[in-house]
Amino acid sequence: MTALFIYLKEAKMLSEDAMQIKVNDKLIKWNGRHVTLPSGRKIRTDWFGGQLQYIAKEAKAGYESFLRELKSWGLTLQDVEQLLESDEPLTKQLSARSNDRVRCSRCHAVLWDPESIRRGMGPECATRR
Ligand SMILES: [Zn+2]
Repeated sequence: MTALFIYLKEAKMLSEDAMQIKVNDKLIKWNGRHVTLPSGRKIRTDWFGGQLQYIAKEAKAGYESFLRELKSWGLTLQDVEQLLESDEPLTKQLSARSNDRVRCSRCHAVLWDPESIRRGMGPECATRR
C-alpha cells in the first residue's frame, strides 16, 4: 500500500516536470507520459526506447519505410546513433527499452534525474527508512 502510494506520487511529480535533451540542435522533450519528437509528434515514453532501437536497426539496414518513419519523427539516422551511443544518464534512460531502464529499487518507478539514477532510488523513497 505504501509502495503504491509512493509510486503514484513520484509518477505525478514526473508528469509535471518536463525533461528535454538536444541532439544536433533538435529538441526532444518528455515527461512520465509521452515524448514530444522534434517534428511535434508524440509517442508514449514507455514505448520510445524500444521503438527507437527497432527503427534504428531497420533504417540502418536500408529499409526505406523506416527511414521515412524516422523523418516523420524529425530525426536522422545520425541523430539516432548519437542518442543510442550517449553516456549521458538521461539520454541513456530515454533511449533504453522500458524494461532496461534504471528503476527505483523500492517502488519500481523509472528514475529520471541523474542523482536518483546513481543512487538507484527516487527522492521520495530515499527519505524513507
Ligand atoms: Zn521510489
